[in-house]
Amino acid sequence: MMAKSPAAARIVFRCGTIACMTANIIDFESAKAHSGDHMVRGTAAFGMVRAFAVSARGVVQAARDNHGTAPVVTAALGRLMMGALMMGMMFKEPDELITLIVKGDGPIRAMTVTANCEGQVKGFPAEPHVWLPLRADGKLDVGRAVGKGTLSAIRDLPGTEPYSSRVELVSGEIAEDLTSYFAISDQVPTSVGLGVLVGRGSDVECAGGFVVQLMPDCIDEVAEAIERNLASMTSVTDVLREGALPNELLERVLDGLGYQELESMPVEFHCGCDEERAARATMALGAEELADMVAKDETAEVFCHFCGRRHYLSPDQLKAMLDSAK
Ligand SMILES: [Zn+2]
Repeated sequence: MMAKSPAAARIVFRCGTIACMTANIIDFESAKAHSGDHMVRGTAAFGMVRAFAVSARGVVQAARDNHGTAPVVTAALGRLMMGALMMGMMFKEPDELITLIVKGDGPIRAMTVTANCEGQVKGFPAEPHVWLPLRADGKLDVGRAVGKGTLSAIRDLPGTEPYSSRVELVSGEIAEDLTSYFAISDQVPTSVGLGVLVGRGSDVECAGGFVVQLMPDCIDEVAEAIERNLASMTSVTDVLREGALPNELLERVLDGLGYQELESMPVEFHCGCDEERAARATMALGAEELADMVAKDETAEVFCHFCGRRHYLSPDQLKAMLDSAK
């Protein structure tokens, strides 16, 4: 039974984080869901519930391609990126950024993702090559790969002090950890479901999820209806495999509560690093070191952890940077 008071209330989503390795052939219906990653924001029960959902196969595949992640890392990083995307959609200020950092004692060690309110996200794992046996139920063992540790969320609005808060990981399965974050840090009863299905060949077959939150005026009957709906779903991944779009996912979770879409936007893996940023990072080395590189005719290489790209600055470019800084 879900209590109404935010301090005690937390919708427990039973199997939202299930991801598994299967070799199912994608049928035409499910292929529909892969066309165009996007997320939606909506409401239900006369405003007592706010809801977000995302479909992000391409986003998670881009992360996999950029970092060469093993399947369990693809699933863990994908879930965290989708969580950040939906948190970004909660913002009112266009320049606000949300960064989620998971640190654990599992073999992934850490993951960092950053999203804005325009549906752009980037992220990277500390260790992309983690190979663990599947769980007894045949699913990827994300919880073990992440381990015990903390989830930090940093909200960054230019011109203001970043606001950060940290909670202990509940299971390392990411969706439960985000649920706990919303309950403890934001005092909002929340249900989070996230799923990434990695197929044979390590490609992402589907990825998506939802965040459903109860507003302070929410009545017990609404919370109980959501609980019943969640209990009747096997997992997010199963619903996505059926080809469900974000709105359809929310219609399942909020069945009978009059779900209404308010906004929809495309989502993408976007880093934003370029030669200019690489130059700024290189300048941080200091004039002396740059002058030394110019003298030795060396090229500077700047590696972007977020997207895995390498930027190169020639000795001529380094010299021009030094001259303009004088
Ligand atoms: Zn980058």
